[in-house]
Amino acid sequence: MWVNWSGGQQANPRRTDRPLDEAGVVAAVQRAAERGTRVRPVGAGLSGSPLVVTDDVHLDCSALTGVVSLDGDRVRVRAGTSLAALLGHLAGRGRTLTVIPDVLAASVGGAVGTGTHGGSVATGSLSAQVTGVRLVDGLGALRALDAESPELDAVRTGLGALGVLTEVELRTVPLAELAVREELRPLDAALADGTLDAHAWAALEVHVPSGEAVVRRGDPVGADDRAAAEELAAPANPVLAAASGSAEALGRVVSWLAPAPWPGSRPAWKPSSRWDGGLAIGDPHVVLPDPRPWRGEITEWAIPRDALRAALRELGAATSARGLELRRPVDVRVGPAETAWLHPAQGRATAWIAVRSPRGTDHQPLFGLVAAVLEDLEGRPHWAGRHDWTVAELERTYPRLPDFLDVRNSLDPGRRFTNDHLDTLLGP
Ligand SMILES: Cc1cc2nc3c(=O)[nH]c(=O)nc-3n(C[C@H](O)[C@H](O)[C@H](O)COP(=O)(O)OP(=O)(O)OC[C@H]3O[C@@H](n4cnc5c(N)ncnc54)[C@H](O)[C@@H]3O)c2cc1C
Repeated sequence: MWVNWSGGQQANPRRTDRPLDEAGVVAAVQRAAERGTRVRPVGAGLSGSPLVVTDDVHLDCSALTGVVSLDGDRVRVRAGTSLAALLGHLAGRGRTLTVIPDVLAASVGGAVGTGTHGGSVATGSLSAQVTGVRLVDGLGALRALDAESPELDAVRTGLGALGVLTEVELRTVPLAELAVREELRPLDAALADGTLDAHAWAALEVHVPSGEAVVRRGDPVGADDRAAAEELAAPANPVLAAASGSAEALGRVVSWLAPAPWPGSRPAWKPSSRWDGGLAIGDPHVVLPDPRPWRGEITEWAIPRDALRAALRELGAATSARGLELRRPVDVRVGPAETAWLHPAQGRATAWIAVRSPRGTDHQPLFGLVAAVLEDLEGRPHWAGRHDWTVAELERTYPRLPDFLDVRNSLDPGRRFTNDHLDTLLGP
């Protein structure tokens, strides 16, 4: 039995194919077409929605790994490669991606498939970095799309409904260390001073009932950051001298030795610190991912950027009115408008709000209420999180849905790549 990351989705596929190369993907899809079975491409299984749940065929992409080429600022990578492996490869060559999500276990194909975003107001999601793909369509034919291909904005957030990605080409940027800091602040102050918009990377962990937030922000490393890191690490630190040649090692040492953050404040809740001492310095893929990734259920919503303050206020009022207090912090990030036709940030600057529910508890009352509040503010759900949207909601909120469906009809006329969830979302 297949189980996803949170444990909340299970599947009993009649067959699991794990092709070793592109020819193997073509053969698997052609075999499914001959037998009339449906196929769901599966990445690392992090998504909490039933995107890959099926009792037909699982096409496990985990053997389609490795970097094909790095040419100028473009990297071409096999779609089953994990973000961790890709970022490690790029770092060894002085490059990185502008998008660092909370976990790096996701595969490139899966992360692109759901429009995975980071925490930068200036650069879009992983989908926005895609400049070309190779995919196997519903008839088992190999297609190559480049930046000029009109279908690319469908495939950029394709939900595994358009074909099996075998290779993805992405934009890269030069690798540069970040200094990341965290501090506890009143939410109103954090929203008022433009924190989310003023840094290379930023995120808020908001405790809605108390109106407090852990503000996390990353910026290019300055002399002050290095001095602060050394000061934090110095007193009890016999090994720092050995580590000081490497900023990544320094970040780890600071994190290991420094005192707890939030000096001078008494939080009304138990905020978790990512970097003890509130500061770390290192490569983005080392310091930005969440060191304690959430194993429960998540619902995440993309709302228009300027609705953020109202959304947090409404969420607080609605949940406390119904006795569903948001005890766990809510994650907030922002990003620019996206071009991908089904990306939740399509066409508008976006604020992301993620709400968590522990494994084994009934998430529906809370997530249903969150959905109701954020839908009123024109929210659209992250496809990898829990939601109950149908094609009716997509028709209302995604103006390019008809274009997406045209591409679906062209790439997968026989609906090889669907399941009950996608039938509900996109129509049969
Ligand atoms: C702890 C945690 C933290 C997260 N943090 C973030 C975050 O910071 N930002 C964010 O935006 N999201 C985040 N996510 C969501 C995550 O990025 C998505 O679930 C992503 O899709 C995971 O990739 P995957 O390889 O696990 O894909 P899967 O969940 O396996 O699949 C996702 C979709 O991609 C399709 N797919 C997979 N491989 C292929 C392929 N080769 N060709 C075509 N389609 C394919 C599948 O059919 C499916 O529709 C997080 C999830 C968790 C559990």
